[in-house]
Amino acid sequence: MSAKIISGTEIRKQILEEIKAEVTEIKEKHGIVPGLVTILVGQNPASISYVTLKIKTANQLGFHEIQDDQSPDISEEDLLGLIDKYNNDDSIHGILVQLPLPKHIDEKKILNAIDPDKDVDGFHPVNVGRLMIGGDEVRFPPCTPAGIQEMIVRTGVETSGAEAVVVGRSNIVGKPIANMMLQKGPGANSTVTVVHTRTKDLAAHCKRADILIVAAGVPGLVKPEWIKPGACVIDVGVNRVGEKPSVKNPGRMVAILRGDVDFDAAKEIAGSITPVPGGVGPMTITMLMKNTLKALKMSAGIA
Ligand code: NAP
Repeated sequence: MSAKIISGTEIRKQILEEIKAEVTEIKEKHGIVPGLVTILVGQNPASISYVTLKIKTANQLGFHEIQDDQSPDISEEDLLGLIDKYNNDDSIHGILVQLPLPKHIDEKKILNAIDPDKDVDGFHPVNVGRLMIGGDEVRFPPCTPAGIQEMIVRTGVETSGAEAVVVGRSNIVGKPIANMMLQKGPGANSTVTVVHTRTKDLAAHCKRADILIVAAGVPGLVKPEWIKPGACVIDVGVNRVGEKPSVKNPGRMVAILRGDVDFDAAKEIAGSITPVPGGVGPMTITMLMKNTLKALKMSAGIA
């Protein structure tokens, strides 16, 4: 039987509607709205398109939003000054510095300068530590892992007692999602295994997974025969494998994207599976909006 397709596009729509309703209610009751600033240094085309999408989404939700574009030559000191300005701006609840930054700027220093209460990306060491402790300590789960967990929960997949296998151990996906799935609480309580390039038998681990989360960045790494029948498969990988003519904009080329899982074959074995594109991708910006709303509620003492 063919797997249930977990549509990030659909789940995104539901969550954005929930956020919008809450923003409207808070505005009516308290006269405040979430404020998000995105700081973009330079003109990296991929970064421009990410920032544009973030600002557009924030705008559609009724947020106060600022796109602060800076020259690629900005000094580290001036960038730190800018962050300090937004740290002290009460109308801004979330600060996002679009990565990567130019080579002359120390990324770690910049991210660590963001007030942890405005770190809606969840990359500040204080928030990484809070995530590790779990429970009430968690402020801002990083956006992609938060999106993954939300998809699993909204699909109705049982996580408690499930064998969850995470392929990849990066700081932005693998490690945080592994940590989140093993916490005590709803949408977690799983038995978690993390595998990586030094793992001896990748296939054997994947075959045990009730929930398989793949974030390796290797197209088609996970073979259909590695998937346990009925498993929930979350494919985080986004790999450009070629180009094709655009249907929307004739005359232009668009990237052909492929995930880390052989989707067509895997969907005949899995119980539920995310497509690429249209799976995890749309969730990341959505969770950024959710974190920004949370930052506003925290700062205003709204339960
Ligand atoms: P990353 O920093 O390159 O980490 C990849 C991880 O996968 C590493 O831990 C690596 O192991 C492991 N790995 C690579 N090849 C492997 C193999 N053959 N066998 C076992 N493990 C292997 O990547 P990332 O930032 O986590 O991103 C992973 C993928 O997710 C990429 O395709 C990225 O584009 C995508 N992504 C999507 C979103 C989104 O949709 N919103 C967000 C973030 C990332 P080692 O540690 O041993 O090197």
